[in-house]
Amino acid sequence: MAIKLVTTAAQLRTESARLLTEKQGSSQGLVPTMGALHEGHARLARTAVEQNDVVVASIFVNPLQFGEAVDLDRYPRTLEADMELLDAEGVDLVFAPSVEEVYPGGEPLVRVTAGRLAEKWEGASRPGHFDGALTVVAKLLHYGFPGAGLSGGGAFVTGAGAGLPAYRAYFGQKDAQQLTLVRRMVADLNFPVEIVAVPTVRSADGLALSSRNRFLSGEEREAALVLSRALRLLEERANAHEPLDLESAQSLVESQPLVGLDYFDVVDPDTLEPLAENCKETPFRGEGLAIIAAKVGPVRLIDNVPLNS
Ligand code: AMP
Repeated sequence: MAIKLVTTAAQLRTESARLLTEKQGSSQGLVPTMGALHEGHARLARTAVEQNDVVVASIFVNPLQFGEAVDLDRYPRTLEADMELLDAEGVDLVFAPSVEEVYPGGEPLVRVTAGRLAEKWEGASRPGHFDGALTVVAKLLHYGFPGAGLSGGGAFVTGAGAGLPAYRAYFGQKDAQQLTLVRRMVADLNFPVEIVAVPTVRSADGLALSSRNRFLSGEEREAALVLSRALRLLEERANAHEPLDLESAQSLVESQPLVGLDYFDVVDPDTLEPLAENCKETPFRGEGLAIIAAKVGPVRLIDNVPLNS
């Protein structure tokens, strides 16, 4: 395998500087993940490799963003297989730090506050989740800053890309609320990084890929398909300039006894406010995001589709 594993911030700085110099690179991409990688993560990695000279993927199961310890404990950890998948996509470095490396003094006293956008939808059922997620994303964006280990403060003095290397970080549309919040953090706090959104990867039957799908029984997996079916129904109606009729799509989900619906709505992708008026009798116009969350057996699943009309 050409890919290299680093576990400390110091190693990451040294290795990414070495690669940038060696490749005369002018850009670096970061793909933050929690491991247990699947084709969805592979798409993120592939996009990053296409767009950057040096690509770092991070694998870190962040205790700060888990509500319950059991959930954290049972999160799948599959480093060997993850490295193979990332290597096949052409990723240069895997940064897989320990909890002690990331939080040397225990839980951090100062954290990112995700604010109002984090109180609804996923945030409503997972209090503190987005503060924890944004705190670690902020740290990972700092760790992955290109050229931090280069002389001259990271400025590039030779090669085609003289100046600071470009910096991009890759996030999945699958976690739409997280993506919105990361974009807001980067804009509101002036992080010098471009956030690139990557479309959701699904299995052939429509189920959005997720590391948690492995906890579904065969019957539950079959039942879970109703989520993507309901979203697709809304997408078709939006494309046909028809009223979305959210209620009938909701009834479809509720007719599935193994699925416990949490929320299903159409929101503004930037403010996450419901676009309720747009969904009733009049044809859908503009840009929206249909979002859904449900418990299927022991697993909480989320999915969404962007709507454009
Ligand atoms: P995770 O390891 O679940 O924290 O996810 C790491 C990154 O992969 C996040 O930016 C996710 O949005 C993204 N991701 C997870 N599942 C998918 C998928 N099915 N398609 C595209 N991106 C995904």
